[in-house]
Parts: sequence; C-alpha cells; structure tokens
Amino acid sequence: MEKLGTIIVLSGPSGVGKSTLIKQICAVMPELQFSISCTTRPPRPGERHGIHYYFLSPEEFACRADRGEFVEHAQVFANRYGTLKSEVIERIHQGNSVILDIDVQGALQIRQTIEEDPELKNSTVFVFIAPPSIKALETRLRSRASDSEEQIALRLKNARRELSFWRSYDYLVINDDLTKATTQMTELFHSFALRTILLPEDLFYEA
Ligand code: ADP
Ligand code: 5GP
Repeated sequence: MEKLGTIIVLSGPSGVGKSTLIKQICAVMPELQFSISCTTRPPRPGERHGIHYYFLSPEEFACRADRGEFVEHAQVFANRYGTLKSEVIERIHQGNSVILDIDVQGALQIRQTIEEDPELKNSTVFVFIAPPSIKALETRLRSRASDSEEQIALRLKNARRELSFWRSYDYLVINDDLTKATTQMTELFHSFALRTILLPEDLFYEA
C-alpha cells in the first residue's frame, strides 16, 4: 500500500517569521523537505538559487506556467511566485513530507485543488502564522533590513488583508516567542504524521 507523505501549507504575512520557523523545524524534523518556490523577484543578500528559491526571469516563469508545471501560482507584491508540481506531488508520492511557504492566494488554490481528491485532502494541513501585533511585524520587517521603506509599507498594508484569512486555515500559530512557536508546530506536525499513517486494516477494528 502506498503511503502519501504530508503536505504542510504555511502562510502568514511577510516578516512574521515563516522562513525562520521553517529553518528551525527542518533542523529538528529532517524528514520534512522544504518546497522550493519559483519567483521572479531578485534574490536578497545571502539567498541562493535552488536553495531559497528558483529565481526565474518573467519569461521563464510564464513559460513554466503555460506548460502547467505549477500546483499554484500567484502575483504577490510586484512579482510572481509559484509552487512546482515536482516539488510537492512527486515527493509525497515517494512518501516524503513537504512544507510550503506560500501566500494566502496560493493556499486557497491548493485548498480548491485537493477538494476533489480525498487522499490528498487527508494528507494536507493548512497552518497560518500570525505576529503578536502589527507593531511587532513592522519591527521584524525592519530588523530583516532587506526591503526598502516602500516595500515595507506595501508588505504591512498587505499583512492586514492577509491576516483576515486566518479562518481559512486548519491551525493558527502566534509567532511571539520563537522557541515556543517552533515547539507548538513540531508537536502539531508529529501528531498529524501519526494520524495519516495507514494502519493495516485487520489490526484495528471497531468493537
Ligand atoms: P518571513 O519568512 O515570514 O517573511 P522571516 O523568517 O524572514 O519572515 O523573519 C523576519 C524577521 O523576523 C527576521 O529578522 C527574523 O530573524 C525575525 N523573527 C522571526 N521570528 C521571530 C520571533 N519570534 N521574535 C522576534 N523576531 C523574529
Ligand atoms: P518573500 O518575497 O518575502 O520571500 O515572499 C513574499 C510572499 O510570497 C510571502 O508571503 C511568501 O509566503 C509568498 N510566496 C513564496 N513562495 C510562494 C509560492 O510559491 N506561491 C505563492 N502563492 N506565494 C509564495
């Protein structure tokens, strides 16, 4: 019997700490693989092609979208972002679990796609990460020191809209204390992995 891996869809406003949390979680859960997204935005200092993102030209992105290579794709801020089928679908069929860092539009597209596939639906969990306050989010965006004032203002404006979608997710985690949020998430993912194990049919039965 084939056992599908788990798809963990993580969203939350830019600067809330998604990349930081994913790094911490993957360090303690090496069985979890990060789904590397495609983007047309330029790399930030320290970001590398094939590790943080696949950095594509707008033409290459459009070509891959036309070929149907994405599970979902969306325009976020001034750029396009997309999740490759090869990063997610192929891997979970090999029994691996993947974690996606995608925006609300992309998460809703995935929610719709899996709706007609009970097996995929049962293997996917949607988690929304919120900041303790808007002020804290602003401080984090500034502390990252990677975006211009204009970019920060745009990300904060978008954050208020994104936060209103938290109810579309299965779980809400407030990233206040990083260690606490990491623990909450690893416990959640472990419990989910346990739930999706396919047990031999003749081992457990209703009394
Ligand atoms: P995202 O991936 O959601 O855009 P990042 O992971 O890049 O966000 O985090 C944005 C900034 O906030 C980084 O400088 C990171 O070190 C910091 N950060 C992340 N989590 C916390 C936290 N719990 N408390 C304080 N700062 C945090
Ligand atoms: P950043 O430019 O800060 O890395 O990401 C900006 C936003 O794009 C974040 O909200 C992030 O979750 C989202 N994002 C990253 N990859 C993808 C993707 O493949 N698809 C979608 N829809 N959003 C993505």
